[in-house]
Amino acid sequence: MGDDPRVVTSSGFRSDGASALEWVADYLEGLDQVAVSPSVAPGDIAARLPAHAPEEPEPFDTILADLDRIVVPGLTHWQAPGFFAYFPASSSPPSVLGELVSAGLAVNGMLWSTSPACTELEMVVLEWLVELLGLPDQFRFANGGGGVIEDSASSATLCALVAARERALRGATLDRLTLYGTSEAHSSLPKGAKIAGFAHDQLRRVPVLDDFSMDPSALSRMVADDRAAGFVPCFVLATSGTTSSMAFDPLEQVGAICREEGMWLHVDAAMAGSAAICPELRAVHQGVELADSYAFNPHKWLLTNFDCTCFYVRDRNALTDALSVTPEYLRNAATASGSVVDYRDWQVPLGRRFRALKLWFVLRTYGAEGLRRHLRHHLSLTEKLRERLEADGRFSFCAPPALDLLCFAHVTGNAATERLLRDVNDTRRVLLSHTVLAGRYTIRCAVGGAWTEERHVDELWELLDRLAPPAATAVAQVAPVG
Ligand SMILES: *Cc1c(COP(=O)(O)O)cnc(C)c1O
Repeated sequence: MGDDPRVVTSSGFRSDGASALEWVADYLEGLDQVAVSPSVAPGDIAARLPAHAPEEPEPFDTILADLDRIVVPGLTHWQAPGFFAYFPASSSPPSVLGELVSAGLAVNGMLWSTSPACTELEMVVLEWLVELLGLPDQFRFANGGGGVIEDSASSATLCALVAARERALRGATLDRLTLYGTSEAHSSLPKGAKIAGFAHDQLRRVPVLDDFSMDPSALSRMVADDRAAGFVPCFVLATSGTTSSMAFDPLEQVGAICREEGMWLHVDAAMAGSAAICPELRAVHQGVELADSYAFNPHKWLLTNFDCTCFYVRDRNALTDALSVTPEYLRNAATASGSVVDYRDWQVPLGRRFRALKLWFVLRTYGAEGLRRHLRHHLSLTEKLRERLEADGRFSFCAPPALDLLCFAHVTGNAATERLLRDVNDTRRVLLSHTVLAGRYTIRCAVGGAWTEERHVDELWELLDRLAPPAATAVAQVAPVG
């Protein structure tokens, strides 16, 4: 070092890079053996880290060693094949490499002119997905629509809300606008409404039917009542595959109401949307042609690591009119010509990562057929587990099984279900999560991990089978009848 003023050099990058890649490969190959969830108390990990940043350089090997020593023991292993909690956040080798290249390039694609290929690759990949998912042509650039990669489905909902709000504000004041979604809509709806400046009570909760999908006649009534009271209904969020139970709101009926009332319809298909890559599963999108905007997450089920949400709009001007703010330092000839897409106007932040790369790597490495095979494999594993649960008198479903999600409970009630979930998760071989559906404590099992195979679902079943108590307790069995 001495007098050399350079801090950043490429010296060591190849060998350190090779070590890092080895490290990730070892991690992925060892996932079968890991305890899915960590055994740590709050503060444990922080206590093992130095309180002060290093003054002097440290060797890369030391940093990698601390990953094993300090960081990994404090992780929940989302890529472990026994991870069945929440929804999957699946990754894959080509996705990891796409991220690597993206970090190496480290471009900022805020404007077309700040890296034309960053914008145009993203546009093309999103057009590919319109075709692969059988999405309506209104979402294509050539028809005045278009797609963008957002960091999350939550951001897509927020951007849709802001676009809908701006459109509605041409004829009404903010305090008169009303929004609609069911109690089963993702929490990013109330959060987005809050950020977009709506008061809590401007978001109306539409009742659900027995299968937890939106009751369209209730929506109709609520909108009519609101109009009669002088409100201006402006936005409906319909979910294709709710987070709690994979319920599908009836898009055709909801969409017809939105059309009639001039309300913006956003379809949140964060988890289920990926299924449409299989032609036989396109029903997940039935009615989506009535939507003003739509989003799904390749970062859930399509082997592309977080963050990667594909967000489409029917009228891209409605979105960019709402979000475009142009200071002098961003003015440029390409933007002024009106012939380019500047993705900064499609999202909340200015700067943006080159996210399309990882999706491009994934789509090309596996091909649409590979992705279809992957999803169908998960569906057949789910079906096998569903049959086992159904045939066993100790379990019952709390919602209709759909796609790769099973929502079930122990027949003796909430206490037994809660205890079973805890006991199964305590083995740390698998991880399941929970929800509450119509007052029932419910175990959620989502099969969607990149590395999950039949033997992992078999192991999950063996644990459930071994740890679940009998259907009727001894007390219940001797209770007098009649
Ligand atoms: C997972 C999920 C979300 C949130 O996804 P993020 O990308 O993490 O914001 C939103 N809606 C539904 C239906 C989901 O399942």
